[in-house]
Amino acid sequence: MAAKLYDNHGREINYVRMAVTDRCNLRCFYCMPAEGIDYVPRKELLSYEEMHRLMQVLSQMGITKLRLTGGEPFIRRDIMDFLAAVSKLGLEQINITTNGTLTAPLVPELKKLGIHSINLSLDTLDKDRFYEITRRNEFDKVMHTMDELLRYGIKTKVNAVVMENKNTEDLIPLAELARHQPIDVRFIEEMPFNGAGSHYPVLAWNHRHILDHLRQHYPEIERLPDPPSSTSANYRVPGFKGKIGIIAAFSRTFCGTCNRIRITPQGMLKTCLYDEGIFNVRSLMRAGATNEQMRDAFLDALNHRAKDGWEAERNRNFGSPVSESMSTIGG
Ligand code: SAM
Ligand code: SF4
Repeated sequence: MAAKLYDNHGREINYVRMAVTDRCNLRCFYCMPAEGIDYVPRKELLSYEEMHRLMQVLSQMGITKLRLTGGEPFIRRDIMDFLAAVSKLGLEQINITTNGTLTAPLVPELKKLGIHSINLSLDTLDKDRFYEITRRNEFDKVMHTMDELLRYGIKTKVNAVVMENKNTEDLIPLAELARHQPIDVRFIEEMPFNGAGSHYPVLAWNHRHILDHLRQHYPEIERLPDPPSSTSANYRVPGFKGKIGIIAAFSRTFCGTCNRIRITPQGMLKTCLYDEGIFNVRSLMRAGATNEQMRDAFLDALNHRAKDGWEAERNRNFGSPVSESMSTIGG
């Protein structure tokens, strides 16, 4: 029987999100300051060999689902070779989160590799606002990627961060993407991972506010049952081809069924988005750890996992507030 992995709260862990780089070609203001962040020196990034070995170990422990994220995953050289290698490990799903600026020409190859789904990050359908939010003029390339994903029939989700005074007028146009296309559109609460050190005592556009706003436009919107470990509360508007989701990433309403761990570009294991990192897998591997020792380190980390994102945040060193860039975590 296939191995299963559980944490100290009895939650099954079967999903890893791996940020393959902290580099990015956009500067989304909720993620990075305009001048960017201090990138991790190249030799401190996990190599592809290390990532592959890590995935071998994790898949033997019960991980069945991998998401590649970043930074922008497609900015890392030879990423397609890595994908080809990791697609042979027998995982149930490989998914990718991308800003879509470099993705369009790769879609046929992604289809061939059997990539299960792509999350496209897109916060507006207005070209000028896209520039204001991302500080780069790449809107047309992202839209081209969306067209290509649909053309090749790769399951596509659009993820939009909801930001007060920035893109709330975009919520309905974005939701409309799901009317005629099989696209799931998900609205994400803004989190304080902007690399600038600021955080929000009160989030004006929380999941309730987002839902109220959607309800005003779609009074017939109906809640769907939650799939296991879903981070999004899912809804359907009658007649729409795709679903609408709301992800309470800041309010943290979904921790009770959290099935995921994260690996940062430097190889730090995070058992919660809000923790500071539990141990460095890269250091362990470079110190000569065997697969057995890696396994034990993962099991130990999962035996001490925070109950929820609030506890993980409280456990941060000296209570230091969340301020790192999401591009060093992967979302
Ligand atoms: N560069 C890729 C992209 O943008 O899709 C992958 C990495 S990005 C860090 C992953 C996801 O995190 C994106 O959907 C992005 O919108 C989201 N994200 C980044 N900063 C965020 C923040 N402060 N609050 C909420 N979501 C955020
Ligand atoms: Fe880059 Fe993604 Fe962060 Fe935007 S959200 S700056 S695309 S890593």
